[in-house]
Parts: sequence; structure tokens; C-alpha cells
Amino acid sequence: LAGEATVLGVNIMQEIGFIGAGNIAEAIIYGLRQAGGKYNLRVVNRSNGARLADLADRYQIIPASLAELVQSSEVILIAVKPKDVPGVLETLAGPELSSGLNDQLIISVAAGIQIATLEKSLPGMAVVRAMPNTSSAVLHSVTGLVRGHEADEDHVRMAEKIFSSVGQILWLPESRMNALMALSGSGPAYFYLFTECLVQAGVELGLREEDAEMLSRETLIGVGKMMAESGKSPGRLRQEVTSPNGTTIEALQVFWAANLKGIVREAAEACARKGQEME
Ligand code: NAD
Repeated sequence: LAGEATVLGVNIMQEIGFIGAGNIAEAIIYGLRQAGGKYNLRVVNRSNGARLADLADRYQIIPASLAELVQSSEVILIAVKPKDVPGVLETLAGPELSSGLNDQLIISVAAGIQIATLEKSLPGMAVVRAMPNTSSAVLHSVTGLVRGHEADEDHVRMAEKIFSSVGQILWLPESRMNALMALSGSGPAYFYLFTECLVQAGVELGLREEDAEMLSRETLIGVGKMMAESGKSPGRLRQEVTSPNGTTIEALQVFWAANLKGIVREAAEACARKGQEME
């Protein structure tokens, strides 16, 4: 069963600690709860306690101190902004906490923070770098995973269990992480943007905004399901809905004329470049 550890047929709690309680942490926490596994989820957050109280209320997380989290967790998931990661690593490696670090798995979801940085700060620790996306919240993330040098098969399985419970996973070499970010990490925003544009166009064609939004959104969901379930490539599916003298081809010709392919390539390159600059 996704999310459940079994020893001699007995389900046991898995202890996961989150450092940072922002958007991505909440998406993963929600996904883990939806997946129904047995987890104790401890969370440390820098900002006010109201956030943790809210998460405790909704997802039964346990607000914790960093010391408690290190003490109790099998997996420590760092989910703070990249600029805050060095501070977190310094605290973990500092005199008060480092003695509590031994065989835990450290997972970082921070964009642009490399395995080498994590391993240098926490020598000997098993680390995995992960790049999920916000669709974790509806169990449709695609998470890129990079394995650190000290991560053994058990650590790999733990990381797979966490991120498989919120969607698909893909292990890849770190050199491909920025490419993955340009597709699935930042990709949700591209599809939201396209949907916004379609809604706007619908309104200009005379539809009510809520109707235009429902039509655009449901079309995107339907297309996603077709791509996932039909076994056909996006190109084939597109051809099947585009007859030579029909209405759809008129729209597609506008996209080609505006060099949609080039625009998308440029956007993805800009995203990957930014990821590289952040490393
Ligand atoms: P966010 O700003 O919503 O959340 C970060 C949280 O960390 C805040 O609640 C902040 O108070 C807390 N924090 C900061 N420093 C801390 C510290 N020292 N100890 C404890 N808590 C601390 O950010 P987010 O959107 O959740 O992104 C978090 C990380 O996830 C980033 O590094 C980002 O690159 C990565 N990520 C985000 C997405 C996404 O779609 N949002 C996708 C993939 C990866």
C-alpha cells in the first residue's frame, strides 16, 4: 500500500519531518494524507504559529521544534526557499543538532540547491534532491529525484514512497534537473497562463466569464485525461481533432504563424537558465 511501512505484516508509523510549512510542504502533506499511509508528520516553521495550528487542524501534523524533529524523523524534508537553505543546513550541522543526525534521509525540494551543497554541509548523510510541483495537492505531481552518494536502497525506497503518493516520479542525473524544472516544475504555470488567455478570448467572443472559465478548465482536464489514458501521443490526438478544412485548423495556423514552438522553447530555456544561475 502506498505510504505504509510493513514489518512482518504489521503496519508501522513512518516519521517524516518538514522544515518549512509553505505551499509545497502543504501540497505534499495533503497528498500524503490523501494517500492514506500511516505517517507522523512533524513540522517546523519560521513564521507565526497560526500556520502550524492551521495545518495541525486540517492534516493532523505535529508542530515541533527542530530538535524534536531531528530526534524523531526517519526522513527530514527541507521545504524552505532556496535563500533560506544555507541557514537550515548550518543549524542542522551545528553543535546542538548534528549529534542527532545519523541514518536519516535528508530530502531537499529547494530549487537550485545541488546534491554537492547538501552533502558538503551534512557529511556522511544520505541526501536526495527532489523537484515536485504543486499538483502534489491533487496527487498529480511529477517529481524529479536525484540520488545522493550516501543514499542506499532503503533511502531510495523511502523517497519513492513519499513522492509516489503524490504522483509520478522520475529519477534522473542532476545535470537534467533544470530541464525537468522547465517542464514539470514550472510547467503548471504555463498551462494556467494558457487557460487564462483562453478564458479572456472567450469573454471577448461574448461568453460570460464563469462559463468561459468552466469551458477552458474542463477542456484542459479532458485533454489531460485523453493524453494519460488513450495511449496516443499528443501529436496524434491533435491530428485526430483537426480536419483539413475545419475550424480547428484555422486556430492552429494562427499559433504556427506566431511561432508558438519557438516561444515555448524560449520560455523553457529561460526557466532552465534561471535554475542554472541559482546553482
Ligand atoms: P513558501 O515561501 O511558501 O514556504 C517556505 C516556508 O519556509 C515559509 O513558511 C517560511 O516561514 C519557512 N521557513 C523559512 N526559513 C525557515 C527556517 N529556517 N526554518 C523553518 N521554516 C522556515 O515557499 P514554497 O513555495 O513552499 O517553496 C519552498 C521550496 O520548495 C522552495 O525552495 C522551492 O524552490 C521549492 N519548490 C516549490 C515548488 C512550488 O511549486 N511552490 C515546486 C518545487 C519546488
